[in-house]
Amino acid sequence: MRALLVLSTLLVAAVAKDDFVGHQVLRVFTVDEVQVQKVKELEELEHLQLDFWRGPTQPGMPIDIRVPFLSLQSVKVFLESHGIKYFTMIEDVQSLLDEEEEQMFAFQARARSTDAFNYATYHTLEEIYDFMDLLVAENPNLVSKIQIGSSYEGRPIYVLKFSTGGTNRPAFWIDTGIHSREWVTQASGVWFAKKIVEDYGKEAGLTAFLDKLDIFLEIVTNPDGFAFTHSKNRLWRKTRSVTPGSSCVGVDPNRNWDAGFGLAGASNSPCSETYHGQYANSEVEVKSIVDFVKAHGNIKAFVSIHSYSQLLLYPFGYKTDPARDQSELHQLAKAAVTALSSLYGTKYKYGSIISTIYRASGGTIDWAYEQGIKYAFTFELRDTGFYGFLLPASQIVPTATETWLALQVIMEHTQNNLY
Ligand SMILES: [Zn+2]
Repeated sequence: MRALLVLSTLLVAAVAKDDFVGHQVLRVFTVDEVQVQKVKELEELEHLQLDFWRGPTQPGMPIDIRVPFLSLQSVKVFLESHGIKYFTMIEDVQSLLDEEEEQMFAFQARARSTDAFNYATYHTLEEIYDFMDLLVAENPNLVSKIQIGSSYEGRPIYVLKFSTGGTNRPAFWIDTGIHSREWVTQASGVWFAKKIVEDYGKEAGLTAFLDKLDIFLEIVTNPDGFAFTHSKNRLWRKTRSVTPGSSCVGVDPNRNWDAGFGLAGASNSPCSETYHGQYANSEVEVKSIVDFVKAHGNIKAFVSIHSYSQLLLYPFGYKTDPARDQSELHQLAKAAVTALSSLYGTKYKYGSIISTIYRASGGTIDWAYEQGIKYAFTFELRDTGFYGFLLPASQIVPTATETWLALQVIMEHTQNNLY
């Protein structure tokens, strides 16, 4: 009996979720390059176990850092001793997680149709996969589900295809959730899927679009990471692959693409949140998309959705050279952001990745663009840092709705400028 008790206690410990009691998120402001360098030094101190939600870039750009309770004093003393200003953005990370979990459990009932599905709460992987099956079953002439691969841990990787017929029509790609902790993105992906079936045949713009082009939507682009955010660590970003010789798990799937792979703007340390992996396409979650897109050969737009920061970005991230189509992409981004803001006034910045945020190599849309897919964009959805990755569920539908307005602008432009 006693042995059984010990065993069960151990099992509980093994599956218990990581807690973030007393963890704070600090927003740090630097005024010059010296201060930026100081914050970068902080980033190197692995024993502090800091999680940079937004890393140091250039002076004046806010930096958001999740600091474990035990490191708080050292970090604050460090910042103050170098005259670096900061404020506490999130007092206690765990209390936000508790609220989020409570909200999820309150709406746990399993939906029997996509009309009964709750779009205003976060869902598990199983619930999202069930949603996809319901959507396909309800709309067999419009939606199908394609398995493009299996994740590192063996989960199926699905893409929804929205098509009204034809063969290998020009197509519009959207993916959400490649970084697993960015929960508002997968939730928005679910909402987009429902919106497409609701609007087809009713809304003129989307109907005309789908009569000419197909839409591919990958909602859970990093299923292992997403499952892990539910079972163990809500703030997990990377894949779950094992790197030989390292105890740290996972690769940043937005640094793993074959576009400037391994150059500045990614880390070669397996413990880093921006670890690029052993080689380009090492992550099956990335390779599955690469193979699919290449085999398809007729994808005209590629939109990869992240959070947070409220940005709409186009290539490049790994080099300063402007994209050949920079002025067209810039105009289009401006129009998309204007449409997005028209609903609730949410403000977005836009521009190339490297000029707007930072140098980032091996990124999704740089790869897509270099494949000849001209309309390649990355969104960073809400917010700008009140909640960061822990955006309250009450903001899911407003976020998805406003983002859809921007997507429609990009879709319409693609449709009118097929190449
Ligand atoms: Zn991301």
